[in-house]
Amino acid sequence: MSAGLSLSSYTLAKPTNKLDYLAPLFRDAVESALAECNDETNALDAMVYETYRSNELAALYYARGRTVKPPTTPVTNAPTNLWSWHGFGLAVDVIHRTKEWDVPNEWFAKVAAIFAKHNCKWGGDWKSPDRPHFQWGQCKPGPSDVARELIRTRGVEAVWEAVGASVPA
Ligand SMILES: [Zn+2]
Repeated sequence: MSAGLSLSSYTLAKPTNKLDYLAPLFRDAVESALAECNDETNALDAMVYETYRSNELAALYYARGRTVKPPTTPVTNAPTNLWSWHGFGLAVDVIHRTKEWDVPNEWFAKVAAIFAKHNCKWGGDWKSPDRPHFQWGQCKPGPSDVARELIRTRGVEAVWEAVGASVPA
């Protein structure tokens, strides 16, 4: 199965929340987790804020706190979109539908417990927590040089296959 949309077709320096950019099994996992977050029992009002991150947007974030001030300190150490699984369609950021980022840690923890059931790892568990961030469970914390080489030489679908996020042929 190929992706609904090609990642390289999205070059805007702004976030997209289109699920079509995600690896097929990761997309299924995100949709199932979100449905559970927002069912009558949990009623967490969760939504996806960002899926695929273009290199153009990664460059804009990288400039913040470096060449663009304020902020006074850098907001990310990722010089390109290939230093985050967002650049591979294997990560999403999830926020509250109306309160957006302005929710207590417990809210994110509840969302994370549900995403964990759907094989998604939470950025809130990191040393520098990134609470809205979720990525495919088989991914390492960050993409390796091997993953970057693979996407360059064989395309994103080869990476999806390597981490078990493709629909089996
Ligand atoms: Zn993220």
